[in-house]
Amino acid sequence: MTAMNNQGRPTGTGMSSNRETPTFTGNRALQLEEPLIFERDNPGACGVDFDEPKAFTPRLGKLARKGSIGLPGLSEPEVIRHYVRLSSKNFSIDAGLYPLGSCTMKHNPRLNEKMARLPGFGDVHPLQPVKTVQGALELMDTLSHWLKVLTGMPAVALSPKAGAHGELCGMMAIQAALKARGEDATRKRVLVPESAHGTNPATAALIGYKVDAIPATEDGRVDLAAFKAKLGPDVAAIMLTNPNTCGLFERDIIEIADAVHEAGAFFYCDGANFNAIVGRVRPGDLGVDAMHINLHKTFSTPHGGGGPGAGPVVLSEALAPFAPLPYVTHGKDGFDLVESEAAAAADGQQPFGRMTAFHGQMGMFVRALAYMMSHGSDGLRRVAEDAVLNANYILASLKDDLSAPFEGPCMHEALFDDRFLKGTGVETLDFAKAMIDEGYHPMTMYFPLVVHGALLIEPTETESKMTLDLFIATLKDLARATKSNDKDRFLGAPHFAPRHRLDETAAARSPVLRWGVDVPRQAAD
Ligand SMILES: *Cc1c(COP(=O)(O)O)cnc(C)c1O
Repeated sequence: MTAMNNQGRPTGTGMSSNRETPTFTGNRALQLEEPLIFERDNPGACGVDFDEPKAFTPRLGKLARKGSIGLPGLSEPEVIRHYVRLSSKNFSIDAGLYPLGSCTMKHNPRLNEKMARLPGFGDVHPLQPVKTVQGALELMDTLSHWLKVLTGMPAVALSPKAGAHGELCGMMAIQAALKARGEDATRKRVLVPESAHGTNPATAALIGYKVDAIPATEDGRVDLAAFKAKLGPDVAAIMLTNPNTCGLFERDIIEIADAVHEAGAFFYCDGANFNAIVGRVRPGDLGVDAMHINLHKTFSTPHGGGGPGAGPVVLSEALAPFAPLPYVTHGKDGFDLVESEAAAAADGQQPFGRMTAFHGQMGMFVRALAYMMSHGSDGLRRVAEDAVLNANYILASLKDDLSAPFEGPCMHEALFDDRFLKGTGVETLDFAKAMIDEGYHPMTMYFPLVVHGALLIEPTETESKMTLDLFIATLKDLARATKSNDKDRFLGAPHFAPRHRLDETAAARSPVLRWGVDVPRQAAD
């Protein structure tokens, strides 16, 4: 946090690195220092002119506020500038390459935004009578149709609001199906590969399952023998990501699915990496029972700081009856929403409950469908092909400078380990921080856990060869520099970011979320 002197000039920033010359203002060229709005307070200043109210008798009794509410005093342009400056500090896919592995940070076409803002979609209220939102329901129905076609699955639940929420939905459907068979009390174990995203074991544990980790083989895939040895009458499901988080296709997936089903369990597939196979492989053909689709990954739509997600879950024949409320049906007077268990029962369904108050993220549905329709079936296939091509271009270009843990081509993301840093005194974290100085958002680090000091790069199909070439050249230069004496380029990095190296552990463990004059400030250097 920046301390201010009494002229409002930041002190103690920008001085900690020998790579820069401090300026009077603390600003660096047009990279402006931006304190909290409370720190900008000019007591007594006000952006609006209200007339003094006429005399009145307050009716609040003892509830009347005694002191000031502590709003900072600023003029209107100062407020505008504060927020505009803050907004420009947000790194986004619109600002540069965002190679976060497992996140599919692809370009979001503006057409999607335009469609999502159409009043008939943007302004609907979830409590409007269904006859007034027929177009919105039709859009949900059409999106459902294409999700089912692309995945080869018979049913889909649209309401989950993100991937992890979709996992919960799929696993609750599995739990409901086991309950209907009278096996919910005996099947209490869920198998999860060691390379899984943390949300998988968290989801299973949240609804009372014991998580049992399956080891990976030398080539980064599920150890089939170890997996089969773990199957038994107490297993409820396997949660498997395909392509997996090492960026590799699980070659034995059909054998895995068959073995799971033979053991009377269900196959939950984490579909976060669907971008690698969309239009090429239908998860339904692989024996999947439930799979979430992160609309905000595979089908563009903003995510992370840029917007909410949506995690529809496709379900197999066996799980379809347990899909949550509400859902869209074709009623006799047009589209309808099934909202109650009674209505669902009349429809032959036994919903396990409800994931959200309403039907999910309308804006995300519109964006995802706009994306699908503008690509068409051939375009969607190209998405997967080009995403895989781009990742392999990165892998092939960098495997001699960085170190790749697994032989052979990858799917949509290129995984490296930290062997290339051995003996250099530089670690994965330092390497990633030096990328910030070069103007790159770092790739995913230290994930998946099965690879030491992992660096996971997902370029997506939306990056051009020219962009990838500069990125590759930058990483080559950095890799070369780790072997030189210029350790400060890494150990002190980022040198050119306003706050330099942050103590991320402290920030996560003891976040300071509230401003107050007496809250202790920690200087970042
Ligand atoms: C992103 C991701 C998730 C979680 O999805 P959210 O939409 O962030 O909740 C789960 N698994 C994998 C492999 C992912 O990459």
